[in-house]
Amino acid sequence: MTTQGPADFAGQHLTVAGLGVSGISAARALAGLGAHVTVVDGGDGDKQRAAARELTAEGITVRLGDGDTLPEGTDLVVTSPGWKPDSPLFAAAAAAGVDVVGDVEIAWRLRGPGAAAWLGITGTNGKTTTVRMLASILAAEGLRTLAVGNIGTPIIDVVLGQGKDGDPPYDVLAVELSSYQLHWAPSVRAHSAAVLNLAPDHLDWHGSMEAYAADKGRIYEGNTVACVYNAADKATEDLVREADVEEGCRAIGFTLGTPGPSQLGVVDGILVDRAFVENRQKQAQELAEVSDIAPGSGTPAPHNIANALAAAALARAFGVRPAAVRDGLRAFHPDAHRIQIVAERDDVTYIDDSKATNTHAAEASLAAYEHIVWIAGGLAKGATFDELVQKSAARLRGAVLIGADRALIREALARHAPDVPVVDLDRTDTGAMSEAVREAARLAEPGDTVLLAPACASMDMFVNYNKRGEAFAEAVGELTARDH
Ligand code: ADP
Repeated sequence: MTTQGPADFAGQHLTVAGLGVSGISAARALAGLGAHVTVVDGGDGDKQRAAARELTAEGITVRLGDGDTLPEGTDLVVTSPGWKPDSPLFAAAAAAGVDVVGDVEIAWRLRGPGAAAWLGITGTNGKTTTVRMLASILAAEGLRTLAVGNIGTPIIDVVLGQGKDGDPPYDVLAVELSSYQLHWAPSVRAHSAAVLNLAPDHLDWHGSMEAYAADKGRIYEGNTVACVYNAADKATEDLVREADVEEGCRAIGFTLGTPGPSQLGVVDGILVDRAFVENRQKQAQELAEVSDIAPGSGTPAPHNIANALAAAALARAFGVRPAAVRDGLRAFHPDAHRIQIVAERDDVTYIDDSKATNTHAAEASLAAYEHIVWIAGGLAKGATFDELVQKSAARLRGAVLIGADRALIREALARHAPDVPVVDLDRTDTGAMSEAVREAARLAEPGDTVLLAPACASMDMFVNYNKRGEAFAEAVGELTARDH
């Protein structure tokens, strides 16, 4: 829907908030376009100083130790996702009448006429998986495409790279959009978009569930063909209803059950489309079998079937043929640390779902197995665990708790699953994972699953969830016969 040429940032005074990965890449890209860029950051540690030296050498101004005051003459603030909306810098910007936007907004403004359409995906959980499934399907259709957003090449670089070096431009982008990015991207208008699910997360950043939902709902604004929602999660459907979309844009649901008209769903192990067919009252189109979803990675967990349906809905909205949906799902390989089978030892399966960093994600992965020794704990980010434990109690053979906020989980287990044996490791050092895995192996019985699905963020013990998953895999590798 680009009616004007790309935005011209040359000569503008841009202030980039945050000297992290996204701030550094935005600063470089904008300086490359001829803008006068100042990066501000409240920190002043060794890491920041090293990054500042590099940027300064490239002609970018960096101000460390003060992330609150707005540099004189700023035309626009470009923020990093970690900065909360109530940061003093943004109050200063508002007082000066200066807009605050994120990297996604900049990327959108830089699109030229005829630029690739965006298919947007958000949700509390499943974004990365679904974006990658979608890109795989689009590629199977023969379209030039890329999964972008929180993964891989920064989105500004992708848009700027369009058609450079003689590469043909992309036909369509599968864009992962976090609630933070949506908050700061007021003019993005996707061709079609999906909200996969909505559960409390990052409330410390957004301030309230309503504010979080409203930011997620922004993804539907101005959609032209389809707003895809989760029929099992009414909140996502409500967001579609509230959205201001283009004339003719349709609401399309996905369900793990039999689909109604204008839905995609599952019938006898087959993914079917009752939305993008000629007569949706009477007709259904077979897309793929459930077993086509990442074959080789075991039976897909229910939430991954839902993710596949959402990806299929967006692809079909873009006109992709049914056979390409099947081929794309077959070619898809799940990312590491997302329900990854690490090993089978003595008839016990060890699964790394370190990416289950909130209770909603952990609930989905705990629902996928029958008898589980659960390794959990970390930073709770304000979450409560009662509902998760209540829903999962019957499946738990035992639980091993690690990390800063493990007491919250221990108390929920005591309340709702008093008979489940719990090992509280009382450790927050990185080495605790070896002990956790040994304890879990001891509790497990033949046929059980040892599942790392922490329901918490990892930063109290690890650099990130990748490192936490790697520590788990290493610890499983170190198990000896004695540990069982
Ligand atoms: P995101 O990019 O939204 O963080 P990922 O695809 O990386 O999502 O998956 C994160 C975690 O969320 C996975 O490890 C899995 O446990 C869980 N998950 C994935 N898809 C869903 C879903 N549709 N519903 C609930 N949980 C999910």
